[in-house]
Parts: sequence; C-alpha cells; structure tokens
Amino acid sequence: MRVDVAIIGAGPVGLFAAFQAGMLGMKSCVVDALDCIGGQCSALYPEKPIYDIPGYPNIQAAELVYNLKEQASRFDPEYLLSRQVNSLSKDGDLFRLSTSKGDVIEAKIVLIAAGAGSFGPNRPPLKGIEKYEGKSVFYLVGKREELAGKRITIAGGGDSAIDWAISLSSIAKVTLVHRRAKFRAADASVKELYRLSEEGKINLVINYQLSALEGDADHLEKIVVSDLDGNEKVIDTDILLPFFGLKQNLGPINDFGLDIEQNYLKVKQPNYETNVPGIYAVGDVAKYEGKLKLILTGFAEVSSALHHSYSRVFDGKALHFEYSTSKIN
Ligand code: FAD
Repeated sequence: MRVDVAIIGAGPVGLFAAFQAGMLGMKSCVVDALDCIGGQCSALYPEKPIYDIPGYPNIQAAELVYNLKEQASRFDPEYLLSRQVNSLSKDGDLFRLSTSKGDVIEAKIVLIAAGAGSFGPNRPPLKGIEKYEGKSVFYLVGKREELAGKRITIAGGGDSAIDWAISLSSIAKVTLVHRRAKFRAADASVKELYRLSEEGKINLVINYQLSALEGDADHLEKIVVSDLDGNEKVIDTDILLPFFGLKQNLGPINDFGLDIEQNYLKVKQPNYETNVPGIYAVGDVAKYEGKLKLILTGFAEVSSALHHSYSRVFDGKALHFEYSTSKIN
C-alpha cells in the first residue's frame, strides 16, 4: 500500500489525523493493534462521559469515536486493524512500515499517535485474582447497565476510579477504596465524590488497600482491605473494579530509532516532529515541556504536524492556509 501519511494508532488523535490529512489533500491509512478504532476511549471507557471536548458540553467516549470516524469518512481513509506496526525504516524518500499481519505500507510521512503503546491494566497483586477476572473483576467497564443493582468495590484514586464511582452510584451500591486521603483527579469530580459520600450514596474507605479476595470458585463475595497498621475491614462485593492506571509499553516503537524518554517520544515544538524528519508524534505518546495529556491537545498537535508536513508530501509545494469552509462545500 502506498499513501501520503501512515498513521500509527486509531485512538481519537489518530482518527482526527485521518480527517485533517484528508482536508490537506493527503491520502492516509490508519493502523491499530486493537480490533476496533478509538484507542483508550473504546477500550477503557466507552460509556464514560467526557466534558472537555470543545463544543460538546458532555459526550460519551464511544460517541466521540463514532463522530471522529464519521468526520474522517468523507476522505475515505484506509483502516488496518488487529495489526501492530512492527518496523519502520527509510527507503529513499519514502518510509516503509511493516505490520504483524505482513502488510507493507509506503508513506511520505508517518504520524505516530500510539498513545500509551500497547496498553494493559496494572493488576493489583492479589492472590487468586486471575480466577475472578472477566467474571467478578474487571479493569474496564463495558456496559454500565450490566452493573445495575450490584455491590461494586472500586479501587484507586485517579480519574477513572472517581468518575466510575460517581457514575455507578446512581445504579449500584458503590464502595471506593483508596490508600490515601488525596485523590489525583479533577477538583470538580473530587467535590462531587465527597458530596455523594456525605449523602450516603458512595461508601468511601480511605487509607486502606486491597489485601485479599474471598469467594467461591467463580464469583467474588468479599474483599478484605487493610491499613498500614494491619487493621482490616471486609466489604461485601459482587464486582471489583481496580483502576490503577495503564502499563505503558511502546513495544516495537522502541526500535524505530526515535528519541524516547520514559516511554514517550520526544518531539520539537511547534511542529511535533521527532528527531527523524518526516516522522511526527502526536497525542499521548508525544512528549515536550508542558505537555497536557488530553484529547483536545492531541487534536491541535495533529493540525500543526500535518500543516508542517505539507511541503514534504507535495514535493516542496507551499501550503496556502485556508479555513475548512473554503475547502468543503
Ligand atoms: P490512544 O487513545 O491511547 O490510542 C493509541 C492507539 O495506538 C491504541 O489504540 C493502540 O492500540 C495503538 N497502537 C499503539 N502502538 C501501536 C503499534 N505499534 N501498532 C499499531 N497500533 C498501535 N482525556 C480527555 O481529554 N478528557 C477526558 O475526560 C479523559 N478521560 C479519561 C478517562 C480515562 C479512564 C482514561 C484512561 C483516559 C482519559 N483521557 C481523557 C485521556 C484520553 O483518553 C487520552 O488522552 C487519549 O485517548 C489519547 O489519544 P491517542 O489517540 O493519543 O492515544
């Protein structure tokens, strides 16, 4: 396959890149290791509302992904799913990418929107947890309504733990366990959490950690939590949702010859080019001073990177900036 832009990663940022490439007259393909588009939005929180996408007071992650695909569809990008980009090399003026399914893609530029790389959840080190995974222990919430009426224990102190505690408290009996009194989440969400706790809608168990699981062969019945002094509490639980963040692993991207700092690709501002001219990194994977890991930041990075790449893609031709209304009727 030969394209102008090869986009690695079909998360929200990669999807917006397919649209932006089309706007600039570039043919793109988007490759993702997952079997669906949407990256973290689809894999980790499809039903969670997002409040900080400009123009949408509140949009579910899955709906945002749908809209991004719809927005790009007028340019017909090629999606290659369920395959990892395993290698990237330079062949004359073109980049050559190969995937785990044997595809070879030649591209004039490469946009890496690989997020956290091949991601997976951090699992709590609890004896026997594997036997409950997929039955009583889940690292992401697929269908929120399936949890209605359950006794749910959520563990963690970040945005996912708090957002889900708030969201599920209206349909289930929720306990939130966190090892310290400080949360790493948006102030507004933390306030809401305390408000619901005061109203008795969320049971907050602070300064305790998960220490053991009890149940029959298949299903969880109780969770034991303990504090630093060894005091224990037992929480009746049908479902445990541990939200301890993602394991970040760039996998094969580590071998692409790019400058890497702690699992992130270092880029230059304002164009988000890596140390290799023609290879850009955008979205969560891109690192520079003051980086904010937000979807809207990734969208802006995409526009800057693709505008910068224009003359490389079109053999030195200068880009005359236009608003979208001048391009699309
Ligand atoms: P990702 O969404 O991580 O997508 C990267 C994709 O690249 C993945 O699908 C992965 O499979 C693929 N990939 C990686 N390596 C390869 C490879 N070698 N070959 C092929 N494919 C590859 N942000 C907000 O702005 N607002 C919020 O409210 C918000 N809430 C959040 C809640 C939770 C629970 C979490 C976990 C995150 C939240 N975020 C939020 C952060 C937001 O999801 C990320 O900033 C966003 O997903 C980054 O998008 P991305 O496209 O850069 O990367």
